[in-house]
Amino acid sequence: LGARLNGALSQFSKSSSVDDAAIDALLKELCSALLESDVNVKLVSQLRARVKAKVKKSLEEAEKAGGREANKKNVVQKAVYDELVALVDPGTEPYKPVKGKVNVIMAVGIQGAGKTTTCTKLAVHYQRRGLRSCLVCADTFRAGAFDQLKQNATKAKIPFYGSYTETDPVAIAALGVEKFRKERFDVIIVDTSGRHKQESELFEEMVAIGAAVKPDMTVMVLDASIGQAAEGQSRAFKESSDFGAIIVTKLDGHAKGGGAISAVAATKTPIIFLGTGEHLNDLEKFAPQPFVSKLLGMGDIQGLMEHMQDMAMANPDRQKDLAKKLEQGKFSIRDWREQLSSIMSMGSLSKIASMIPGMPAGMMEGGEDEAAGKLKRMIYITDAMRQDELDSDGLIFFSFDKEGNPVGLNRRARRVAKGSGTSVREVEELLAQARMMAGMARQAGGQNGWMTAMNKMQ
Ligand code: GDP
Ligand code: MG
Repeated sequence: LGARLNGALSQFSKSSSVDDAAIDALLKELCSALLESDVNVKLVSQLRARVKAKVKKSLEEAEKAGGREANKKNVVQKAVYDELVALVDPGTEPYKPVKGKVNVIMAVGIQGAGKTTTCTKLAVHYQRRGLRSCLVCADTFRAGAFDQLKQNATKAKIPFYGSYTETDPVAIAALGVEKFRKERFDVIIVDTSGRHKQESELFEEMVAIGAAVKPDMTVMVLDASIGQAAEGQSRAFKESSDFGAIIVTKLDGHAKGGGAISAVAATKTPIIFLGTGEHLNDLEKFAPQPFVSKLLGMGDIQGLMEHMQDMAMANPDRQKDLAKKLEQGKFSIRDWREQLSSIMSMGSLSKIASMIPGMPAGMMEGGEDEAAGKLKRMIYITDAMRQDELDSDGLIFFSFDKEGNPVGLNRRARRVAKGSGTSVREVEELLAQARMMAGMARQAGGQNGWMTAMNKMQ
């Protein structure tokens, strides 16, 4: 999906004029990409109408203000971006566990959706953020359910509760939550059973468990690979257990994810995480704006900063200097180069790479090799720079007019492109990235300091 949307937009931005035909072509490609990834037909046609109306209105305004083609393109791109965000954003805030109280989270969903796996991933996630977390197994339907949770929890070193003999899921849930409440855990996650289909027994059980444990948040776990069926399934669950958040699993496979987007719209419930693999770390935070940014190749600076913070924890010495520089609002190309090499050494490149602005979103689909290749080229570019260039903020690569406005790249940039075997366009991309990071640093720096700003972002 990302590759196609990204492709459609860049095709559009290359077109020489912004006329109806260009806009229609963009919309057509956009809509067929969405349909192909299983987004509900009605939603797609609504989106189309909205983008069209918005573009028309904005273009008229831009025209009045004597808009140039470049501005008009921005208008269209912004309309597309806004409407895609609206598509995955139901406009309701999900519950966020807070420290200092006991937060009970209950997971619901059909069998095989990924509840048990996701519950453990969630526990690990909150635990890492300083919230003492634990698990309760209220699945007595499936043989081996408790063993599975026990195994997961043990591996992740998360305390758990369950029973081999008790057959009433409501009783187990109540006992487990009661026990952990007394022990003042911050987050208690209740894993429930599923049936093969959405059946009335299952819904009755969910209601009874919900009444017994009084969850602060109920999460519906939705398997992305069920495609269009996601909408009906989520509607059926919503009626019996009024869940306040959705987690979409198995997005690492060939699933298209569009069904999940339709489920958000149908139940007006936000997605909070995506499951992207079987391992405990394969959980990604979901938020509408960064998601769409990445989809369109616009990057996710905030997500990137979070990763940089994780890296800082792994390598405190080297990163202390960086934190200091950022706090002072200084960020040179050399610093950006260092971040790029850290990213290279971190693994899971394709995920992180899509957070960098200007990296093609199709890379998620292209996989690790493509991401590694692209990152390597960026490092080659910095290899071809001289010391003073590396220590600069990047402006050294531009020529300026008499008023001091940058008018284009200069000979240095061409030399670097040639020396690194890349293109001027790629050099420009790298400079833009470094500049964006520097801008972010300046914003986050000053009074509060970079680290404080980062902590606030989680
Ligand atoms: P439950 O029946 O809803 O509790 O589902 P499970 O947690 O037992 O998961 C069912 C299967 O899906 C297991 O084999 C999991 O390893 C797998 N699974 C869960 N989440 C993901 C995911 O995000 N990606 C992939 N590839 N597999 C997953
Ligand atoms: Mg299970």
